[in-house]
Amino acid sequence: MARRTLITLLALKALALTLAWFGHWAAAAVVFFGPDLWILYNLLVPSAQGLCRNFTRFETDRSEIWLTIDDGPDPDDTPRILELLDRHQARATFFLIGRRAQRHPALVTEIVRRGHEVGHHTHTHPAGSFWCASPARLGRELDEATQVLTPLGPPLRWFRPPVGIKHFLLPHALAVRGLQCVTWTIRSGDCLSRSPETVQANVLRQLHPGAILLMHGGPSV
Ligand SMILES: [Zn+2]
Repeated sequence: MARRTLITLLALKALALTLAWFGHWAAAAVVFFGPDLWILYNLLVPSAQGLCRNFTRFETDRSEIWLTIDDGPDPDDTPRILELLDRHQARATFFLIGRRAQRHPALVTEIVRRGHEVGHHTHTHPAGSFWCASPARLGRELDEATQVLTPLGPPLRWFRPPVGIKHFLLPHALAVRGLQCVTWTIRSGDCLSRSPETVQANVLRQLHPGAILLMHGGPSV
């Protein structure tokens, strides 16, 4: 997929140069820069499907949502979240950061013991640089977290890129590791220093069956 996209991109650049050579400047500019904008859109917009297929909702005929909690584990937040979920008999997927899981492995096993799922959220959560990481660094972000998380629970299935920003090579990198990309339907806004009431109102306004809800636990990254 990435190779095909790259070949198409280079072919369009060559076409743009040809158009410019014959004096069709406006068409050349559109053909030259248009694909770049398309790539940027697909890298930066979490719900975009052009470069990397990702789940933004799920099919259900029941009144249920997929609750996902990112950026843990955290010694303060995770136990409190687990108690809250138990109280409401709710289950969630915790998208964990490998480096944090390395520091708090007991919290990971507790998440699994209580019937929740663990997802992969990179090893260091490089939110600002994930999209332009070298292929080697992309591999390290995936493999190092996998090495930490795999012995602590069932095999990993889901991957969520930091702040939903993807990488050009992500589809292949996930496929060879047996991971699938999940973003979200509803961003709760809980990491924007909003009051709990504002977050609650924001979520309730958008809630519907099959929605994937993004929330966070632990200090912001
Ligand atoms: Zn995150």
